[in-house]
Amino acid sequence: MQTYPIAMVPGPVVVPDAIRNVYLEPYGSGDLEIEFVELYTRTQRRLKAIFGTRDDIVIQSGEGMLALWSALKSCLVPGDRVLAVATGVFGYGIGEMAQSIGADVKIVGFSYDETINDMARIEAAIAEFKPRMITAVHCETPSGTLNPLEELGRLKHAYRVPLFYVDTVAGAGGVPVLADDWHIDLCLGGSQKCLSAPPDMSFLSVSPRAWEIIDAVGYVGYDALKPFQHAVENRLFPYTPSWQGVAALFTAAGLLLDEGLANSFNRHDAVARLCRQRLVEMGIDLFPAPKAIPSPTVTAAVIPEGFTWDTWDRRLRDHGLVVSGSYGPLAEKIFRLGHMGAQADRALVEQALEVIAGAL
Ligand SMILES: *Cc1c(COP(=O)(O)O)cnc(C)c1O
Repeated sequence: MQTYPIAMVPGPVVVPDAIRNVYLEPYGSGDLEIEFVELYTRTQRRLKAIFGTRDDIVIQSGEGMLALWSALKSCLVPGDRVLAVATGVFGYGIGEMAQSIGADVKIVGFSYDETINDMARIEAAIAEFKPRMITAVHCETPSGTLNPLEELGRLKHAYRVPLFYVDTVAGAGGVPVLADDWHIDLCLGGSQKCLSAPPDMSFLSVSPRAWEIIDAVGYVGYDALKPFQHAVENRLFPYTPSWQGVAALFTAAGLLLDEGLANSFNRHDAVARLCRQRLVEMGIDLFPAPKAIPSPTVTAAVIPEGFTWDTWDRRLRDHGLVVSGSYGPLAEKIFRLGHMGAQADRALVEQALEVIAGAL
């Protein structure tokens, strides 16, 4: 099996032993044991702290995309108006997902190297379209940007939009998330990014208003949220829960809270700054536009002249470094260094930058 000593892919990130070891313990059945329900409840509490919310938390077995789909399918019926604020692959993609389940979607779009700006244009769209849901992405991983959400949340609140849906799969834990202050109703996270757990779990906060809507919509399916509404009190989950997966999230969130969220944010910010500064010193162009906010969890840069993605990737792999390309319109144009979670490590990032400098 091919492994690389310097892994800088922006998810799934390298899993630290303390989290990996959780999977090796013997567990009972999450369906039957009260200990599982207690673990689930304690994990919810830790994830609330990471999301900055007092809302309920649902923990599901499945990758980040599960949270994205389950929140859309559980809250929308055909014809519901969705305003998708999009600055990248995930932002536009969520609009397409909502459309595919019959929603009436309006996109407020920005180019992939931008972050949310021009609040007047967004406000006009909200006022005119009167959406039932606003969607946005916090960290646009494919373009290495971080969208500011506070102002959008303020508009959501001011215009009494029922639901604010935010994908912070690649942000939560590495950058501040204030779901309550930003009026987020559905805050979506995954295990494999800043929490440094394997790619098998997802979680989301659900506001009281969102629960009301989920209840009324009554969506049924493996990815339905409704069966989770009273799962803890009834000790009845919609399928056998992954004890291992929840235990890993519990441990992962515990490691972050023990470090201190502010310290984690500083750690991510410091390695991201180092990464950007060194790349620029090497003559590599950063991808986000000058006025966009670069993400502290992932850096996107333009593939250096004289290389294609394939030749650049091969050159780096020959020296033990694996980075990521990108998707959609960014494929073949940019490469990405994921310094999130366990990979937000100064020594690791320095090693990666040394390989890049040598490869040029
Ligand atoms: C990683 C990621 C997801 C979820 O992707 P999975 O491959 O299902 O884990 C969703 N949104 C963003 C912005 C991401 O970076």
